[in-house]
Amino acid sequence: MHDWIVVGAGFAGAVMAERLASVRGDRVLVVDKRNHIGGNAHDRLNADGLLYHCYGPHIFHTNSDAIVRYLSQFTGWRPYEHRVLAAVDGLLVPIPINRTTINMLYGLDLDEAGAAAFLAARAEPVDTVETSEDVVVAAIGRELYEKFFRGYTRKQWGLDPSELNRSVTARIPTRTNDDDRYFTDSFQAMPSAGYSAMFARMLYHPLISVQLETDGLALPADQRPARMIYTGPIDAYFNHVHGVLPYRSLQFRHVTLGQPQFQAVGTVNYPQDQDYTRITEVKHITGQVHPLTTLTYEYPSAEGDPYYPIPRPENEALFKRYEALAKAEADTWFVGRLATYRYYNMDQVVGQALASFQRLDAALPRTPRIAA
Ligand code: FAD
Ligand code: UDP
Repeated sequence: MHDWIVVGAGFAGAVMAERLASVRGDRVLVVDKRNHIGGNAHDRLNADGLLYHCYGPHIFHTNSDAIVRYLSQFTGWRPYEHRVLAAVDGLLVPIPINRTTINMLYGLDLDEAGAAAFLAARAEPVDTVETSEDVVVAAIGRELYEKFFRGYTRKQWGLDPSELNRSVTARIPTRTNDDDRYFTDSFQAMPSAGYSAMFARMLYHPLISVQLETDGLALPADQRPARMIYTGPIDAYFNHVHGVLPYRSLQFRHVTLGQPQFQAVGTVNYPQDQDYTRITEVKHITGQVHPLTTLTYEYPSAEGDPYYPIPRPENEALFKRYEALAKAEADTWFVGRLATYRYYNMDQVVGQALASFQRLDAALPRTPRIAA
């Protein structure tokens, strides 16, 4: 009875399903392997009534008014600007590195021009900036690179920064002013009732049915709609015919403490000693008031659910081989972070899905329906 099966109920799948149903009037079956909607952005209340992010901290930020307008149909917003400290040399200092970071770490009192001169004196020119090591060393020099980036990146990716594309560490800017926000996007806010509530509203439509704990690739072709939106790992769709495309995973440890607050900011990064990369205290992010507090520790791992595409040339080359197969699939559209192997933030996935829908809608005649 459905026109489409959407595999995956994360941002990519939810946007596609919502657009197919609301704009085209198509009947959509959304399936997810997991027992919940929202993909990696899923949040829920724990046994103590604290709202937490099951798959690590998800902070919404974007420069796109169109994406905010689209999502605002399904949620209100609570303004929130994320701040992160890094535990370095026994101190807690702002990351992205800014003037305060330099002054605290080196016992200095530099002004903005002084901080810029400090970094310029340490930056090491690199002929062609290709790797995640190059991009940092060229901006701030080797000593700060080693303190803040090398250890964290090795933990997070199981690779040295010199083995990763520049795009990975280039996500983190360097500043010479006192701006200690993690992001500088024009819109920074959290869905006011949480992500899962927003997803529930996106998928609440008479033409959308949701089936959880269902593997969309295991359904026999004659028992599912002919047309598919696929948002899972692209290599799994093709049975890994060209070999396994690497994705990085994480193990999350959620701990609730009998005190209202644990740390001064939403996230503290641990680039040096610990085997976790960061601790997030989600109350800072949700704004929830509660006598207890929940922390999330992130332990990077090669095993487990696929969370991150790993940006490096050989993986990009392997992805291209899968992408060529994907282009030849007449009835399946590949959307999202896993299916297009892009290290995308949530807003970028929404933007990609909206653009994919536009192309799809232009290419396929709409099915005329007789009003019931
Ligand atoms: P996903 O959310 O991964 O959804 C894909 C879904 O498909 C999954 O639910 C999966 O179960 C399902 N699936 C896969 N295969 C099948 C199958 N065969 N059958 C049925 N279902 C299947 N972005 C930000 O903007 N800000 C942040 O602060 C931020 N923090 C992050 C922190 C962490 C730890 C991680 C891992 C990511 C973070 N992101 C953040 C990125 C964000 O999670 C993604 O951009 C977004 O969730 C991707 O949505 P998606 O729909 O492409 O994929
Ligand atoms: N990074 C780092 N030290 C930090 C923060 C980030 O080395 O304190 C590097 C690391 O390689 C990380 C990348 O920058 O994977 C991107 O960081 P971001 O916080 O954007 O990662 P995400 O939230 O996507 O896991």
